[in-house]
Amino acid sequence: MTAKRARPSVLIIGSEAQPFAKTGGLADVLGALPPALARFGWAATVVLPRYRGVTAGAPVETFPVTVGGFTRDAAFFEAPLADGARAILVDCPDLYDRESLYGVGNVDYADNALRFAFLTRAALEFAGRRSAPPLVVHAHDWQAGLAPVYLSTLYASHPVLAGTPSVFTIHNLAYQGIFDASLLPSLDLGWDQLTVGRLEYWGRISFLKGGINGSRFVTTVSRRYAEEIQTPEFGFGFDGILRARGADLVGILNGIDTREWDPADDRFLPARFDADHLEPKATVKLAVLRRYGLPVDEGAQQRPLVGIVSRMVDQKGFDLIAALADDLPRLDASFVVLGTGDPAYQDMWRVLAARHPDRIGAQIGFDEALAHLIEGGADMFLMPSRFEPCGLNQMYSMRYGTVPVVHAVGGLADTVEDDQPRRRKATGFVFREYTPAALLDALTRAVTRFADRTRWRALQVAGMQRDFSWDRSAQEYVKIYERAFGARPRGTRA
Ligand code: ADP
Repeated sequence: MTAKRARPSVLIIGSEAQPFAKTGGLADVLGALPPALARFGWAATVVLPRYRGVTAGAPVETFPVTVGGFTRDAAFFEAPLADGARAILVDCPDLYDRESLYGVGNVDYADNALRFAFLTRAALEFAGRRSAPPLVVHAHDWQAGLAPVYLSTLYASHPVLAGTPSVFTIHNLAYQGIFDASLLPSLDLGWDQLTVGRLEYWGRISFLKGGINGSRFVTTVSRRYAEEIQTPEFGFGFDGILRARGADLVGILNGIDTREWDPADDRFLPARFDADHLEPKATVKLAVLRRYGLPVDEGAQQRPLVGIVSRMVDQKGFDLIAALADDLPRLDASFVVLGTGDPAYQDMWRVLAARHPDRIGAQIGFDEALAHLIEGGADMFLMPSRFEPCGLNQMYSMRYGTVPVVHAVGGLADTVEDDQPRRRKATGFVFREYTPAALLDALTRAVTRFADRTRWRALQVAGMQRDFSWDRSAQEYVKIYERAFGARPRGTRA
């Protein structure tokens, strides 16, 4: 039976979404995708935990949710995101009223399997109480990896949800949700799930694997990353699993929130600018230098300012930077970094800043306003990631006329065009080999190019003119949802 629906609907499940909770790019995606889908006529609901400190939303329902023997009343808070798009925040203080989202320091909470299985169950139960099912369930990263699994087990003959297809999106393959197999019963899953074609991973279980194997389509956040993760080098042990699903694996580049990240209308900037009026960017640069206590003399204003905003983890290429600790201060550039993460990298930046107070500034912490200020005021943005599924900061940078210097992987390779002779659309500096020397070469090229103001401006403007809006990505998700549902493509729209 195919009832005609005014608005097709999607149930999105994930562990963080802007503006409620964020540790990384996933939150940006889950905050922006639902409104973008709504612009294309979809009704989009994103379900995430109501973590400590989240005050948004009005209570709409409370009912008990059970995972294994664990039963708690879950309160559902609804917060509108846009016309046709809303967030549902699941309140369960025993699980989510904690200091942080996933764990403290580098140590995950011991009950993360339960915390996110509960989220998934709560989301499905919530959807199952409506009169009609969503057209598709769209689960994100390992935290929601059990959604496809539950749909094909617990909900296989559910009066509302039976037969609902799912799409699973990998934002970062490095996080696999691996737990002891003995947890299966306490997750309401049978031992039949402990097989290679389902959740089993080297004798343990992986939520990520459940999402990959159980969903109709698997997507990831750039075309290049979709290819890379099918190779041993980038597959994190999952390349074989992903090759097996290769025919159903699609890369869809993330968009960026072009309203939140708009140099012409950014509340965090002391001056606004656009591609036709770049001059005020100098005022923002001055503000960044001041904020970091770096010199603000003519020389400091003239030399390029390199910004970094990043989680401080191995993925982001800090080992290359560590290897260049003595070289960076010798470049004719200043550096400002904002980030938090691995204590070793935090210390590295603190030490570098203390050693070179006239050239390097470091802020350890998470600071949305400062992230905007850096994107606005820096001349270059450094993102030497070892791997990068999509990456948002390089796109924000291009939009702010801040020229990215990146490693040629994943979404960085898909979005940044290297500055080469006669390449008029070049937007940045790209290095191929993951070595300190290659990074230094790219940075040196960038610093040298900076002196050629005409050419530099061309790089800035080319980046500022790129379209990274969500509409393009949302359309691709709609196509996948429709294919997952088995609907014929609309055919009228390209
Ligand atoms: P990832 O998701 O791997 O962390 P992305 O580049 O895709 O990397 O997204 C990172 C997002 O998190 C960006 O919006 C970036 O501005 C933000 N971010 C990362 N670290 C910080 C920080 N310390 N303070 C503010 N924002 C940060």
